[in-house]
Amino acid sequence: DLLHGEKSGKKIGKMSSIVVKDAEETKSLVWFRNDLRINDNLALNSALSAPGKVIGFYCFNLSMFKMTNLGFPRIDKFRAKFLLETIENLKEDLKRINITLIITIGDPVEELMRVISQQKIKNIFFQKEWTQEEVEEEDKLKNEYNNINFKSFYSQFLYDPNDLDINNISNVFTNFRKHCEKKLNVKDLVEYPKKLLEDNLLKDDYLTPSLSDLGLEDFEIDSRSAFKFKGGYNAAKERLDFYLWQSKKINFYKQTRNGLIGQDYSSKFSSWLSNGSISAREIFWEIKDYEKNILKNQSTYWLIFELIWRDFFKYISMKYRNKIFKIGGILEKDYHWNTDNKTFDKWVDGLTNEPFVNANMLELKYTGWMSNRGRQNVASYLAKELNIDWRWGARYFESQLIDYDVHSNYGNWMYVSGVGNDPRDRKFNIKFQAERYDPTNKFQKMWLQTRIF
Ligand code: FAD
Repeated sequence: DLLHGEKSGKKIGKMSSIVVKDAEETKSLVWFRNDLRINDNLALNSALSAPGKVIGFYCFNLSMFKMTNLGFPRIDKFRAKFLLETIENLKEDLKRINITLIITIGDPVEELMRVISQQKIKNIFFQKEWTQEEVEEEDKLKNEYNNINFKSFYSQFLYDPNDLDINNISNVFTNFRKHCEKKLNVKDLVEYPKKLLEDNLLKDDYLTPSLSDLGLEDFEIDSRSAFKFKGGYNAAKERLDFYLWQSKKINFYKQTRNGLIGQDYSSKFSSWLSNGSISAREIFWEIKDYEKNILKNQSTYWLIFELIWRDFFKYISMKYRNKIFKIGGILEKDYHWNTDNKTFDKWVDGLTNEPFVNANMLELKYTGWMSNRGRQNVASYLAKELNIDWRWGARYFESQLIDYDVHSNYGNWMYVSGVGNDPRDRKFNIKFQAERYDPTNKFQKMWLQTRIF
C-alpha cells in the first residue's frame, strides 16, 4: 500500500514495524486537538518514543454545540458531522497501531482529569495552540498537576515556528512569503508511527457519538453542495490523490481558483487542514513530488503560495494574540460599527439588497461551504456596506464553515474589514464582482431560484 510520497523517500506509506513496550512502565496520553491524524503528528510520534503504554484522548467540547446569543452554536451541524467522521477515522487508524482512542463528551479539562486519574497518566503529549481558550485549557490542567510531564509541539505549520522570529514577522504577506521562501525549508514528515503490541490496547472500545449526542439534528447533504465533504485522513488523502495525480486539476488551479460552482475549481483541502486530518507538510511534499514527476507550473506553485497564506495568518495570530478578536483588530482602528440584529440576520439569511451576497450566504447556510471569492464579497459587504461589527460575521462563519480555522477566519475577516493586514484597505464592488465572476448568473440562479424558506 505504498503511496506517491514513497517516490521521494517520504514515509507516508501504510507499512508499520512493530515496537515492543514494557507494560509496567509509565503511561502516556496523546491529547488530540486540531491534529486529528496519525501521519506527520509530532505529539503522537513523541509519545511513541516515550517508554510505557500510549493512550489517545479526544473530547467533544459540549459548550461548543450550545446556542449562543447570536442565535447559532459555535459549531453547527456541518462541521460537527465532519468532526465526527474525522474522529471515527482517527480511532480506526490508531487501532491499527494498537492505540485506543478514549472519546468523551463534556468539558475537556474535566474529562482529561478523570482519565488522568483512572489511567494513572504520567506524560501528556499534545499540539501546541496559542489562542486564548486553548491556552486557558492548558493552564487549568497544568495547575492541577505538578507530577505530570506536559509536552507540546507545533504540528500545524508548513514552516516551523522555531525557525522564525515571531515578534518581527512582517505584517505584509509578500515580505513574509519571500522571507520564508528564501531563508527557510519545509521539513520532512516525521516517520510513520510504529505499531505497538496488542496489549497496549485498553479493554474498552469507545464509540464515536452521533449528532444527536451533541444536541444537533441529522441532515441530508444538499444536492447543490460544491463538495460532499467527508471527515478524516482517508478522505483527505483520496482528495489529494484525485486533485493531483488522477485528475491533474492542479495544473489549472491558478486559472480556476476564483470559481464559484463545482468540486474542482479549488483544492477543497481546507476542511481537512483545519482540524488537522492531514498536515500542510504532507500536502506540500505531495505537490513537490507531483512537480518532479508530472508537471511544475504557475498553478502548482500557486497552491503552495496559498498554503503560505495559511501559515501567515497563523503567525499573525501568534504575534498579536488576543488582538485578532478585538473590534479594532491588529491595527487598533477606531471605526464605528453597528450591532443591529435585524440587519445582521438578513445577511445571514441571504435577504440583503445584493443578490450575489444572498446567493453566497444561502450556499453557506445549506452546505457549510462558500468559495473564497464568495467569502471576500460577503465579508466586505457586512463590514463595509452594512458596517456591522465584523466579529459577528466571523462568529457566523465559525458556526457554519466546515473548514473553520480560528487563524484563517479572524485573519481574513480583519483583512477584509480594514483592521488587519491589507495595506490597501479595499472595498469590493459587489455588482462588478458578480458580473465578473458570475457573468451568466448561473451561480446566483442556483441558490436564489430554489430558496427553501
Ligand atoms: P484553495 O484555493 O485550494 O487553497 C489551498 C489552501 O490554501 C486552502 O485549503 C487553505 O488552507 C489555504 N488558503 C487559501 N486561501 C487562503 C486564505 N485567504 N487564507 C488562509 N489560507 C488560505 N480558510 C479556512 O481554512 N478557514 C476559515 O475559517 C476561513 N475563513 C475565511 C473567512 C473569510 C472572510 C475569507 C475571505 C477567507 C477565509 N478562509 C478561510 C480562506 C479561504 O477562503 C479558504 O481557505 C479557501 O476558500 C478554502 O478552499 P480550498 O481549500 O479549496 O482553497
